[in-house]
Amino acid sequence: MTAQLIDGNALAKKIRAEVAERAAALTARGHTPGLAVVLVGDDPASQVYVSHKVKDCETSGVRSVLDRFPASMPEADLLKRIDELNRDDSIHGILVQMPVPKHIDPQKVIAAIDPLKDVDGFSILSAGALASGLPGFKSCTPYGCMKMIETTGVNLKGKHAVVIGRSNTVGKPMAQLLLQANATVTICHSGTVDLCQHTRQADVVVAAVGRRNTLTADMVKPGAVIIDVGMNRNDEGKLCGDVDFAGVSQVAGFITPVPGGVGPMTRAMLLVNTIEAAERKHP
Ligand code: NAP
Repeated sequence: MTAQLIDGNALAKKIRAEVAERAAALTARGHTPGLAVVLVGDDPASQVYVSHKVKDCETSGVRSVLDRFPASMPEADLLKRIDELNRDDSIHGILVQMPVPKHIDPQKVIAAIDPLKDVDGFSILSAGALASGLPGFKSCTPYGCMKMIETTGVNLKGKHAVVIGRSNTVGKPMAQLLLQANATVTICHSGTVDLCQHTRQADVVVAAVGRRNTLTADMVKPGAVIIDVGMNRNDEGKLCGDVDFAGVSQVAGFITPVPGGVGPMTRAMLLVNTIEAAERKHP
């Protein structure tokens, strides 16, 4: 392997320690930061994600409130619960674990969260603020990816960044953040013709597709920074990303692993957004 590994676990640990210091300072002033995590249904993956988020809070001095509801919960009841959390002064961030059951409209749920507590950064207001360069909450996964790129020391100004994927939660906000950092940004998607023609010119590639081996060594410029957001299973059932790690790490300058890359950073940035929400409320 020639590429340097960007260790998401180590960076997330450092960020959690910084959050813990800020949380202790707020608590000392009588304002313990609080995150409400709402889980509707019994999706096994969601249960794991939620338990990790609650555990992260415990280790960082952030108070967490976990609300678990049955999959049959009516949409109106969920919206009512969000309204209660919006009014609760001890709660600074609200996260509703996605996906919600099919009878619930996720857009209504996201829109119901007070923008000042939208620590997932999924709301239209947060997305609009990001696109307009105004203060707001950044979506946690792209925010974590930016922190990982920062550790490489590569100055993004004038660099060509390619984002593969254009979802509202990852690809689009990722492109906005890279743009803010003065990179020249190309967004690729399922309709892109000749993906490798774009990626081969890129100084930075962020892969957020959800398909193994989307990025292979022949598609990468030597020395490039490769951020792998994807979460897939290989033939042995092991977690893997969108990037062919074995091949690409022979060509790239920096690369994130899966697991141990973007995943832990996404969770860490949720804590950062929560602490920011609490600090904004109690300056
Ligand atoms: P998504 O909503 O399904 O979006 C996938 C994107 O990939 C779409 O924009 C799609 O294009 C594009 N795409 C599909 N096939 C393609 C191809 N052959 N070439 C180029 N682009 C292609 O997924 P997401 O929510 O953004 O998540 C992407 C991946 O990241 C998933 O594996 C997910 O599990 C993972 N993820 C990980 C974390 C983490 O913390 N590690 C967080 C969030 C997501 P169209 O728009 O044209 O359909």
